[in-house]
Amino acid sequence: AAPVALVAGMSRMSKNNIVVKSGTALEKLALAKTFAFDKTGTLTRNQLQISTITPVEGVDKHELQLLAASAEQESGHIIARSLVAGTEHSELIEMSDLREVTGEGIEAQVQGKLIKVGKLNFVDPSVPPFKLDKTGVFVSINGHYAGSITFEDTIREESAQTVTRLREQGINHIMMLTGDHEKVARAVADRVGVDDVKFDCLPEQKIQYIKGVAKDLHPVVMVGDGVNDAPSLSAADVGIAMGATGATAASESADAVILVDDLSRVNRAVDISKRTMKIAR
Ligand code: ADP
Ligand code: MG
Repeated sequence: AAPVALVAGMSRMSKNNIVVKSGTALEKLALAKTFAFDKTGTLTRNQLQISTITPVEGVDKHELQLLAASAEQESGHIIARSLVAGTEHSELIEMSDLREVTGEGIEAQVQGKLIKVGKLNFVDPSVPPFKLDKTGVFVSINGHYAGSITFEDTIREESAQTVTRLREQGINHIMMLTGDHEKVARAVADRVGVDDVKFDCLPEQKIQYIKGVAKDLHPVVMVGDGVNDAPSLSAADVGIAMGATGATAASESADAVILVDDLSRVNRAVDISKRTMKIAR
């Protein structure tokens, strides 16, 4: 396409709160055949509500929440933000030595204790694996399993319509890539109309799935919001970050950033890109 048309297209995008970083990204978006979505914070809302807090015997419910939320204070992960938002701010305890392991969880020192929050195998590998009913995390104190916290992961009101509209726009392969477990993943996918679901994904596996998409289903667009999505946003032909909240890492790795908390802007972006290419041809 003529550079002047691409610039006009990018300007139209920005009027819709969609920042497209290059003309190439806009051209590829117009030709997209696959859309891959992250789940948590992308197809679902950007904040989770605490649902259940289940400590082991001998640990207090309130203490478990407080230690976990305190340890998570400086993490940008959606679980961290949601945990902190659901905890009385004035009660939060000072933490230090935060270490974040992408796709696994975090550890930090709180009140002289090592607090780990994340996947079970990460917080205490000695506990036999078991699944939670919902999106959730496990907590350990000084290496000993201390309990679990689950969350209500509410689907965005615009998600199903966005997916339907993408199919009308000619994108017939729609995937969901999530670090969450199968039960939650399938429930969300069914309700928003995604049939190709990959669950229990580590960030590295999300990349493999994107690269594994059949050549005739390229270009692949990946839409994500979290730090953990940064590698897959880079791996896709076009990475789109939901940039209204937190994760600057995702926005930096993306080819386009949606600046408002509205997933249906991806439909707008496809529309504008197709119109731009038509004008250019
Ligand atoms: P998704 O692909 O669904 O956005 P992630 O790859 O970010 O998920 O995370 C997968 C899992 O890793 C989470 O469900 C959680 O169990 C754990 N995890 C990752 N980062 C954190 C964190 N900062 N705090 C707690 N748990 C985390
Ligand atoms: Mg996410």
